[in-house]
Parts: sequence; structure tokens; C-alpha cells
Amino acid sequence: MPIYADVAVPVHVYQTFLYELPEAVRPLVQLGARILVPLGKSLIAGYVVGLHTQLPEELGTKVDEIKVTGALIDEIPICRQEILQITKWVADYYASPWGEVIKAALPPGISPIIEERIRITGDGHARLEALTEDDSSLQKQILKELLHNDAMSRAGLAHLAPETSLNRTLREMEQQGWLVRDKTQGDAQVKTKTRRVVQLQHPPAEESIEKLTEGQRRVLDAFRSTSKLTVPGLSALASVNVSTVMSLAKKGILKITNEAVRRDPFSDSAFTKPADYRLTNQQTSVLERIEASLSTKEYTAFLLHGVTGSGKTEVYIRAMRKTLELGRSAMMLVPEIALTPVFSNRLRSHFGDQVAIFHSSLQRGERFDEWTRVRNGEARIVIGTRSAVFAPIANLGLVVVDEEHESSYRQQDSPYYSGRDTAIVRAQKESATVILGSATPSLESFHNARNGKYEYLQLSERIGARPMAAASIIDMRKVFAEHGKPQVFSDELAEAIEQTHARGEQSIILLNRRGYSSFVLCRSCGETIQCPNCDVTLTYHRAERVMLCHYCNHSEPAPGTCPACGKKYIYYVGEGTEKLEELLKERFPALGIARIDRDTTARRRRFEKILLDFSRGQIDMLVGTQMLAKGHDFPNVTLVGVVSVDAGLALADFRAAERTFQLITQVAGRAGRGDRPGRVLIQTYHPYHYALRHACAQDYEKFYDEEIVYRQNHSYPPFVALASVLVHGSDLGRVRSDALELRRELDKANGDRLCRILGPAPAPLARLKGQHRFQLLIKSRSRRQLRVVADAALKAIAEQGVNLRSINLEIDPISMM
Ligand code: ADP
Ligand code: ZN
Repeated sequence: MPIYADVAVPVHVYQTFLYELPEAVRPLVQLGARILVPLGKSLIAGYVVGLHTQLPEELGTKVDEIKVTGALIDEIPICRQEILQITKWVADYYASPWGEVIKAALPPGISPIIEERIRITGDGHARLEALTEDDSSLQKQILKELLHNDAMSRAGLAHLAPETSLNRTLREMEQQGWLVRDKTQGDAQVKTKTRRVVQLQHPPAEESIEKLTEGQRRVLDAFRSTSKLTVPGLSALASVNVSTVMSLAKKGILKITNEAVRRDPFSDSAFTKPADYRLTNQQTSVLERIEASLSTKEYTAFLLHGVTGSGKTEVYIRAMRKTLELGRSAMMLVPEIALTPVFSNRLRSHFGDQVAIFHSSLQRGERFDEWTRVRNGEARIVIGTRSAVFAPIANLGLVVVDEEHESSYRQQDSPYYSGRDTAIVRAQKESATVILGSATPSLESFHNARNGKYEYLQLSERIGARPMAAASIIDMRKVFAEHGKPQVFSDELAEAIEQTHARGEQSIILLNRRGYSSFVLCRSCGETIQCPNCDVTLTYHRAERVMLCHYCNHSEPAPGTCPACGKKYIYYVGEGTEKLEELLKERFPALGIARIDRDTTARRRRFEKILLDFSRGQIDMLVGTQMLAKGHDFPNVTLVGVVSVDAGLALADFRAAERTFQLITQVAGRAGRGDRPGRVLIQTYHPYHYALRHACAQDYEKFYDEEIVYRQNHSYPPFVALASVLVHGSDLGRVRSDALELRRELDKANGDRLCRILGPAPAPLARLKGQHRFQLLIKSRSRRQLRVVADAALKAIAEQGVNLRSINLEIDPISMM
């Protein structure tokens, strides 16, 4: 019988706490259950992650730090063992607080709210009696209320006085011993939704029917054609009051029970019968490999490299079917919320109610119900965005990660984790098959396929042999030379837009702009300014007019002339989509133009309306950022123009070329999805950049071969493990000195020089929401050593009094912004 429990709490601390279990709880508690524990002055729902019958030896003298827990919330653990396992891995690998990771793995709103209850004491009674008749103090009013009500919430007393004086008085009275305040467990915010249903329990005998009223008889009649009705449904049908129904229930003739009602996120979708294709030869051989692996019930990872429209999703669906046949369950991760309806409708049309959908834009109740259906084993296929990786699936057989290269798999704030990498580890731990699918695999994954960690599968042809769009590059240096001044659109792109419109076809114009930083470019030669140490583009800081490297802090004054060609055509890039939309409307007044970017997508209805209008041909052109390049299938789009690809190419990020290659390839997949050929025009000041050339030729392998050499030469992933440490705070001096101190400790811990440490430097977003930010980078060929060094340094500065909440350690950061 366990006496002690390790408890992970959902707050930002890097440890679990040891609690002594009260007698009553000991026989019931299991790993993965929630339990109420005191933490500081408050009470919190924590997760039991370890159980002991004796005090763990290593505890030594810390015995008096043990606290006693309160009530057990779950007798059936809320976390399956698989979820404890994978969240533990995430916590260890990404240096995230375990309790926060577990919380992220569960649907929001399911933990009980902690309520405060105020009670009068014996001394309180005495005090009340001692107070005179005409006393009208707040104290007396409170005591009187408490006398009449056994346990009150603070809200129940709120009518007596303004909040601050009420709080002050309550505190004083508590100190005097007149009242006590304890915390108790209230209800969870989200629960199973129920409705009351009526069934016939004991139909009355003939002779007793006569004794019933008219109304009561009509109620009984209602059950001739159905066995179950809701209370309001029944009273409407029999045109009686609810009290008539109740009277029959009292007699034992009817039975009223609560029944769970499912909140179904699919409730307003219509499903079409799925087409039953004959697989192509390529699909068949790919599927054979996957099915063979599924049958072994052992871990295998596949990289499925297939151009857009090559039938990857069809392969996923067949693999899922096989998984169900083998008695196991499947999970599919997709990168964007906007894409889940597309895929989930498709899955739902194949697998019906077996499919559960997990993503954050569902309502809380829907999320809870979908999660519950998976936990009960009612739904055996889960589709969702990155946190769906923690779905409580039992007997996991297949994990699909679609568009595995997408950076949105990475959670960008605490707890940090990569949904893709966590999915792979989960598959490994649960002996499942994992398929990473992409038209443009991440460099890391392709590298893993090359070195045999993943098995490589390819779908090289589009279904129906539809050609990929022809992509070509427009050299903006020449355009500039011809016009003598900068142009947003080349003549070639403008003509293409007009011709497309004249043929009654549609176009998409993209602006490749991520992040907030600006950079410097020479319009004459296309030169950008590089860091001499890091080989990334320097970022322009307008306020100080300097160029900075955000990796190593190299700085130089912003140039007046181009360091490469000596001309004075330096300019600072950074135009937004709004400006572009304006310019396009001016230039092409006859076209219906709509814009899509982060602002529009934040409003889901508006976003959906634009996409719908566009697909119906009511809009001629969409303008937007890279998110337009993904997923959507518009058969009438025959032209895609990329107005400025350079902002993405020149970003201060070692993945800049990879991201640009991916973008162009995806875009080429968008144009010409129907029966007409598509065209892609890319405007750039870097016409010979290898990412652009290989993307135009749709040659992934050539791009990979060139990019991997760059990564190797400059020691970037996949050749090293990378961590970034962000130090932030409102006091600039403090942030800087903490960052410098951290650097000293990192150097100390790095005695054997197995890590390379860079920085501190101001982060690319040097100030965010009033917080100053400094960044350090740690690189190492030894992932283990990297963590040893980082952990030692963090521990050391914590001991010096630096608050670890002002420091974010990010392992495998996906974006260097
Ligand atoms: P991807 O996921 O690689 O983009 P999909 O699986 O969505 O490709 O397939 C592209 C299109 O081709 C879809 O409309 C799909 O229904 C269709 N399709 C897939 N496989 C076949 C097949 N074997 N025969 C005919 N059509 C197919
Ligand atoms: Zn540098």
C-alpha cells in the first residue's frame, strides 16, 4: 500500500514534489491519477507520477519537506500509462516542467476549480454575542451572514463591502480566530453534457389505466412508437405539463434518467461516400511495405516522399484501415487547424464515428467529448494538430505525420515540444509504425532516410499524370536596371495576371515575409550583408542604424553603399501584405481581390468565407503570405506569383534556404490542379540562388545535396544538436548581466569544450511585450553533453539567485527568430 507519492504539478517548476498520502486515499491511489495537494499557500490539482511504500532513500534529511495531500480526484487515473511515459520523455528531452506537459496533454477545463469556503468558529460566535445591538460594523455583518450560512464563498459576501475592504476585514478576522477559510474542491469547468430522458418502466395494468387522468394517458400513448423521449420532448408530444410526467415517475410507471449527450464537432458537416480508387502501381508498392510493417507490430519509421497530389492521403487511409483490422488504433497529425476540416471530413467519410478530431479551435465541450470517446475506446482514429500526439489512445498501431517539415509542429512557448518528434518517440515506445509524409521533407528527416534511420518510400508521380506547374524566375535586378527605379511587379508578372484574368482563370500572389526583422539589400547586385562568423544575414536595427548578427552579436554600421558593387542602391526590405493588396487593386482595378494573412485567419468565419468565394470564382485573386501555399485545392488557379521571395531567403536563420525551397515547391503544387496547366513566376534579386533553381526544377535531391554541405560546413543541424537560451525581463541592465553570467557558467561547465557557445546577443526580437530579450546558442555534436552543460549552468545561476522563470531553454529550436 503506497504511503508516499511523487506529484507533478502544472506550474513552471522543474521538479516533482513528495507527499504523504492520507490513510483513506492509500488503497485507491494509482499512477496517473489527479490528487489535490497543498502548494505554497494554495491548493492545486497535481498528477501522481510515482508511488512509494517507503521513503525514497535519496531524500535523506529533507524528510520534513514532505507534505500531506488532500483528496483524490480520480479513482480511475486520468492519464494512461502511455501518456505518463510520453509526457515524461517530453519533460526530460525538452527540459519542460512535467506537470505542464501533462496539463497540455489533457483537454482544458477538466481539473476542479478550487473554491474557498468561509466558516464561523466558536470564538466567532462568542464575538458576535459580545457585540452590541446597535453595532453596524462590517465585522458584525460578516459574522451574522456566517451564522446563517454554514460555509460561504467570498462571492457570497461580496454584497457587504467593496472587495479590498472585505478582503482586509476577512484577513483580520481570520487572525483573530473568528472565522476559518479552507479550500475545497469544486466542480470542473467542463463535464459530460447530459439530458434527462424518460422511459417506460412498469406499464400499468388495464384496470389501473382507467384511474389515470386524460393527460397521463396521453403520456403513456406517446410510448407506443418509441421507447425513449426527453422530458421536454415528451411533454410537448403529449401536450401536458412537466408535472404530469413527474407524477407518473413517482408512481414508478416512468423512469427518468440522465443520459450523456455528445457534442459533435462534425454535426453540421455532410459526408460524401468515399470513392473507391484502384491504387496506382506506386501507391500499391508503398502500401505493401507499410502493411508489412503494421503486421509485425514493431516500430518502423517511414519517410513518404510524395509530390503534392501523388496520392499520399489515400495511402494513409488504407494504412489506417489495415491498422483497425489488426485491432489497433491510429493517429494522424496535420500542421494547421485550417487543414483539419479537409482531412477530418475525408477520414470521417471512410471511418464514420471511429474518427475523433483534436484541435484548439473546437469548443471546450467538444474537445472534452472527443477526448472522452478516445479514452473509452469508442473512437480509434484521432486526427488533429500537434497536441493530438498526447491523445489517450490505447493500442496504438499507426502514427501519420502529414507535411512533416512544417514548423507549426513546434510548440513555440512553454512547454516546448515538437509534435512530430514526440510522435516518432511515442510510436517507438508503443511499437507502432510511423509515416512521415511530405512533398518537401525536412532536411533532418531526409538525412535520417539516407542514413537508414527511416525507410524511404517515394511517390514520384501525380495521380492522373497531371503535370506540375512550370516555374520560372524573374530577375528583378534587370527589371530595376530597365526602369531605373524599383518595381513591385515586373512587366512579365503584370502581363501574366492580365492574361490569366482574360481567360477567366484565377491567380494567387504571395509575399514571402516571416518574422518582423528587416534586412538590407542592394537593388543593383542583389547583395545582402552577411555575418563574417555565422554566414547568416545581418539584421538591420533602425534605431541604432547598425547591422547585427543575432547568433554571435557581431555588429557593423549600416552601409551607405553596397559593399559588393559600391553602388548607392541599398534599401531596407519589409513591405506588408496590406500594402501589396493596395498596389494590386490600384494596378488591376477590374479584378476582385481579397487578402489573406494572420489578421484574416484570426477571424475564422471571414477566412472561410473568402476561401469559399474564391473557390466559387467570385474572387479573381488572392493576396497573402505563405499560408496560402498550403493544402487548398483550387482547380481554376493557373497562376501563382511570388512577389518577393527574398525576405525569406535572407532571414537570419540557417533554415532560410530550406524554407524557401519548401515554399516554392508547395506553391508549384497549387497552380494547375485542374486540367489546365499552371504557371509560377518568382520575382527575386537572387536569380541564381540554389534554393530557387532547384525548386523551379522540382529537384529535391539536388537541393538536399547542396544544402547538407552547408549544414555540415557551418555545424548546423542535423550535424549538431542545438539549443537556444533566451533571457528576458523588463530591466535591460539586469537581463544583460544575467545573460553574461549565464555565459560564464556555460563556459565553466563546458570545460572539455564539447560544446560551442555563442552570444549573448540581443534576440532578433530584442524587445517583445515590454520584455528585453537576449539570446545564447549552444551547439554540440553530443546531445548528451549539450544538456549536461546547459543544466549545470542553469542550476548554477539559479543558486546565485537568478529567477529561472526569466530564462527559456529551448532544445532543437525550429525558428531562430
Ligand atoms: P496527396 O495527399 O499526395 O496530395 P491525395 O491522396 O489527396 O494526394 O490524392 C490527390 C487526388 O487524387 C485526390 O483527389 C484523391 O482523391 C485522388 N486519388 C488518390 N489516389 C487515387 C487513385 N489511385 N486513383 C484515382 N484518384 C486518386
Ligand atoms: Zn554571427
